[in-house]
Amino acid sequence: MFHLSEDYSKLGLKAGLELHVQLDTGKKLFCNCSTKMKEKQPIEIVERKLHPVASELGTVDQAAQFEFLKGRTFYYQAFKGESCLVDLDEEPIHPLNSEALTVALQVSLLFNCKIPSEIQVMRKTVIDGSNTSGFQRTAVVGLNGYLEFRGKNVPISQISLEEDACAIIGEEDGRVMYKLNRLGVPLVEVSTGLLVGYTPEEIQEIAYMIGITCRSTGKMKHGIGSIRQDMNVSITKGARVEIKGVQELGIMAKIVEGEVKRQMIEKAKEETRTVLPDGNTKYMRPLPGASRMYPETDIPPVPVNTKYLAEIKKSLPEPLTKKLQRFEKELKLSQQLAKEILRSDYVEVFEKVKGVEPSIVASTFTNVVKDLERSGVEISNITDENFMDLFNNLAERKIAKEAIPDILRMLAENNTKKISEVAKKLGFTTLTHAELDKIIRETVKPDMPFNKAIGIVMSKVRGKADAQTVIKAVKKFLATSA
Ligand SMILES: [Zn+2]
Repeated sequence: MFHLSEDYSKLGLKAGLELHVQLDTGKKLFCNCSTKMKEKQPIEIVERKLHPVASELGTVDQAAQFEFLKGRTFYYQAFKGESCLVDLDEEPIHPLNSEALTVALQVSLLFNCKIPSEIQVMRKTVIDGSNTSGFQRTAVVGLNGYLEFRGKNVPISQISLEEDACAIIGEEDGRVMYKLNRLGVPLVEVSTGLLVGYTPEEIQEIAYMIGITCRSTGKMKHGIGSIRQDMNVSITKGARVEIKGVQELGIMAKIVEGEVKRQMIEKAKEETRTVLPDGNTKYMRPLPGASRMYPETDIPPVPVNTKYLAEIKKSLPEPLTKKLQRFEKELKLSQQLAKEILRSDYVEVFEKVKGVEPSIVASTFTNVVKDLERSGVEISNITDENFMDLFNNLAERKIAKEAIPDILRMLAENNTKKISEVAKKLGFTTLTHAELDKIIRETVKPDMPFNKAIGIVMSKVRGKADAQTVIKAVKKFLATSA
């Protein structure tokens, strides 16, 4: 086992990032279907064999691609309100969704990109069956921008507006099952230029900043799979390796580090690798050649006139990167917590809470919520109003912060929606000072060590008194009874 404490720039570490973020628009990119992806039961399963035209595949991997399609049958699950004839490639696409275009242009402007005077939708050949048409539609909406990062400008080479592909459910004996509802959901793709002179941690940080800059629009989807990241990594001695499908931002630095180590030890070849759950990568396929693009002929290019652009510029949202600084400086949140709250679904309600220590609120919306989700609690049952009610009770000292996890659990699992009632049911009503003092007198001996006394009292009053109050009261008791 060796540790890599070396200077990454000496190793010649170069990386490039590509982030895909789903847009939370009302409709899909080229049809009127919902983008919710909420339906569980398919209403129909459509069987297809795909026959791409040879000339459209380009020369690279052509044989392999045909080999792949040969003998494979694709099945598409259609969902009510979430899939239609456009998605099945049986009806021409509708005009480009203007809501999605506006959001994509906002993102381009937030990254200081040049905006093309017209948006030309292109077709990019895709042959794994994840697009029923055999290609993915994509349009460049911004070029040659940058992201300010620690006093430097990180190059953002291109912003595209794309349609998402079908999600794969499984494959067995040449039968591939896809869900049709993700196909056509708008995606913004942000591609960086080559990142040179950054450490793996900084590369992860840049990916985070790109993500929250997109989120600044308030129009990005949340949750697992809503952001997908690809990257390429190389060192001077190694080769350019593409790593596909990084879903968890937190392991990105580890993946880059691992790839650098691998390229130092093995003789690295240019190839595409995929991420394993433990953060390691494995070989997936050779590097693909540059994709062939063809103009989409079903719809004309969309002009971006100066009036339209001026309107978008006027209503540009506050970048979350600015909000991050504000949360750290004004609210005194740790950088870690500030970053997590910005990535969560709760920034807006977090900002509305008054009268409670911001770090308690932030950690409820991040750590506590995550822990509960992990233990199977359906957090989506808890509304923003419930959270506001919770923090109002906390601000008025009607509940203690230690009671929050249990209250939220009960809130999610029961029909009782008033915090005061839930707290009462759980026995979490705060103790008066007299009640607390009585418990201390009954459980603490005057010669007890302070930490032991605190431990005993806390175990008796958990959820009924906050730790600070208990510490004060125990200190007072020990000081006066000694
Ligand atoms: Zn549709």
